[in-house]
Amino acid sequence: RAEGAGADETLRARLDTYAPLQGHYYAHPPQFERGWREMLIDTEGRHYLDMVNNVTALGHGHPVLADAVAQQWRMLNTNSRFNYASVAELSARLLETLPDGFDTVLLVNSGTEAVDLALRLTKAFTGRDDVACVEESYHGWSYAADAVSTSTSDNPLAAELRAPWVHAFDAPNAYRGTHRGEDAGQRYAADAVAELERLAAAGTPVGTFIAEPRNGNAGAIEVPTAYLSAVYEAVRAGGGVVISDEVQVGYGRQGDVFWGFEQHAGPGGEPIVPDVVTVAKAMGNGHPLGAVITRSEIAQALADQGTFFSSAGGSTLSARLGVTVLDIMRDDRLQENAREVGGYLREQLLGLAERQPLIGAIHGRGLYQGIELVRDRETLEPAAAETLALCDRMLAIGIVVQPTGDRGNVLKVKPPLCFTKESADTFVAALDEVLTRGL
Ligand code: PMP
Repeated sequence: RAEGAGADETLRARLDTYAPLQGHYYAHPPQFERGWREMLIDTEGRHYLDMVNNVTALGHGHPVLADAVAQQWRMLNTNSRFNYASVAELSARLLETLPDGFDTVLLVNSGTEAVDLALRLTKAFTGRDDVACVEESYHGWSYAADAVSTSTSDNPLAAELRAPWVHAFDAPNAYRGTHRGEDAGQRYAADAVAELERLAAAGTPVGTFIAEPRNGNAGAIEVPTAYLSAVYEAVRAGGGVVISDEVQVGYGRQGDVFWGFEQHAGPGGEPIVPDVVTVAKAMGNGHPLGAVITRSEIAQALADQGTFFSSAGGSTLSARLGVTVLDIMRDDRLQENAREVGGYLREQLLGLAERQPLIGAIHGRGLYQGIELVRDRETLEPAAAETLALCDRMLAIGIVVQPTGDRGNVLKVKPPLCFTKESADTFVAALDEVLTRGL
């Protein structure tokens, strides 16, 4: 159907068959048919710089990955209950990236599945239904993953429809939240600990705390270190366990760390370690692949109640692909590139913020950044309409960038990890030009 059809015709065909549920980028999206590194190319042959593709982390059209996938398809792809080497290799390679104590890898097909399975595991392990999470977060679309997704940008009724077993802590945002400045982390943590105590006293003690180690959905917002270490400690002291959702911010994207939780430390500088890690997106470079990584005692608790099995999760093909993604990340030095080019991009953006008053803050690190647009740097009034208009103008000059967050005023910047300094310059110059001309 799409072959030979114009972009508008394809969009109409898509809208005719999709329920109104499923959104897409842009009112008049280009029709992409090809990708190369951090570029997308449409059916007219026009090139666009892709600033949003954190799924295709290696870059579009990676030949080594394409060859490995083609070869594996010709050899074998089958149900994950069979015995094959790549699944063992992928599990071992994932465990190598994590601290001691992690010994169990469960392969699934998406971030949502990883979060859903993680919640089943922790529920079985703790014997408790109650889950704590943070406001302005997204964790997936399944019944359980959606229940702990608090972001109103995806679901405006998230707060009204909240399940009674879900308890959302205030979003620990030191830039525009309830507590700001130096000791914001401690103050957010004190609020969260008080809420944990209240829930325990009410007979609904929290069994699981799930959070991203950087709030990706909100726009790469820093989670204060003092916050995460204190909340982890309090949840565990109360008999619960913690899940670090690394689907969006993990897997080398932040440059100086492979996993997002590694950017945090306790008060004495000691590392903080979650009980369960969920990962997807970059892990499959856009192919459906995700994982839950945990300790065997936690997995055993679910095994005591039943089984877990996914036909295609970690199939012969997916596992081979997962190993190849890790090989390419190592061989192309993509985490190092995220650190280096991400650092360069951040510097350029901070320079731009000095010239452009609409930019209120640059969040994030490595190749996971958020450009927050505000009408007034004192009141922090969100410049949501301007952010949308900016994205349309950027598209017109060949740059794909999108708003995120509950206020729709943060540009998410998460290009493929092969991003170059030249592309960073192109992006910053384009932003400068559009902002200077006015929105
Ligand atoms: N967790 C986080 C933090 C995410 O950002 C997402 C997807 N945006 C998910 C889970 C769900 O992943 P998927 O879309 O692969 O189901």
